Amino acid sequence: MDFSNKVVIITGASSGIGAAAAVLFAKQSAKVVLVGRNETALLGIAKKCKDAKGIEPLTVRADLTDENNVKKIFYETIERFGRIDVLVNNAGIGFRGGIRDGIEVYDRAMATNVRPVYLLTSLATPYLVQSKGNVINVSSVAALKPIKDVAFLAYCMSKAALDQFTRCVALELAGDGVRVNSVNPGATKTNFAEAAGFSKEQTEKLYENRDQNNPLRKMAKSEEVADLILYLASDRAASITGATFVIDNGEMLV
Ligand code: NDP
Repeated sequence: MDFSNKVVIITGASSGIGAAAAVLFAKQSAKVVLVGRNETALLGIAKKCKDAKGIEPLTVRADLTDENNVKKIFYETIERFGRIDVLVNNAGIGFRGGIRDGIEVYDRAMATNVRPVYLLTSLATPYLVQSKGNVINVSSVAALKPIKDVAFLAYCMSKAALDQFTRCVALELAGDGVRVNSVNPGATKTNFAEAAGFSKEQTEKLYENRDQNNPLRKMAKSEEVADLILYLASDRAASITGATFVIDNGEMLV
């Protein structure tokens, strides 16, 4: 898969799945735009991307809950690279809280996991129409079923909203030759649990349970999810749009 001269924006590129995707796209000669809040981590991933094929990536430090930060991603991308071919809406947080925990967690989950995706995709659309590009949204199995033993109500709702966003925008933009798809990972080893506020012990227990509760009895690696993202973004997936691809070691089967 050759992404030479293709410009790929990846949100949440400072860690986990987004970082793995950034390096993988860079290995296919893409010009990558790395978005995140943690500048030190972003610069570390940028170095790995440059080392792949010698192409200098653009790093944009942005908090996606801030509309001006989101707009900045586009100014800087167009100024540097002049086009956009792929938007990977990957950034997200596992906000914890159930129905007894107040409404604030709902607002925060939607503000981080859904609103920026809407805004980013909307701002990217004119460029994607021009390049006949595509969008990949990183959703979750949490969009498809509740997560056992964890109060993840608002998180599950945010990812379910994202999946419907994928389908609706895929239909809206199909006539313009723009594809929109979603990947829905199950448990994947990243910084996700820590960012969701789990202690080290809670994280280990959570992962141990997830490990044992899926048929293949293992967790996915970020690189495996990144592979799927790359495939969906490539011309090989030219007939795929509006789809949600589960990558979960069989977790959805039980
Ligand atoms: P990580 O915590 O390792 O990465 C999350 C990324 O999102 C970080 O780069 C972080 O950037 C970025 N991010 C979060 N909030 C913001 C914000 N407000 N503005 C800008 N960037 C932000 O977790 P994962 O790699 O696992 O998560 C990637 C996606 O995968 C998420 O959407 C998550 O919901 C989804 N997912 C993960 C699963 C798992 O088990 N790991 C399972 C199913 C889905 P920074 O640290 O620089 O702020």
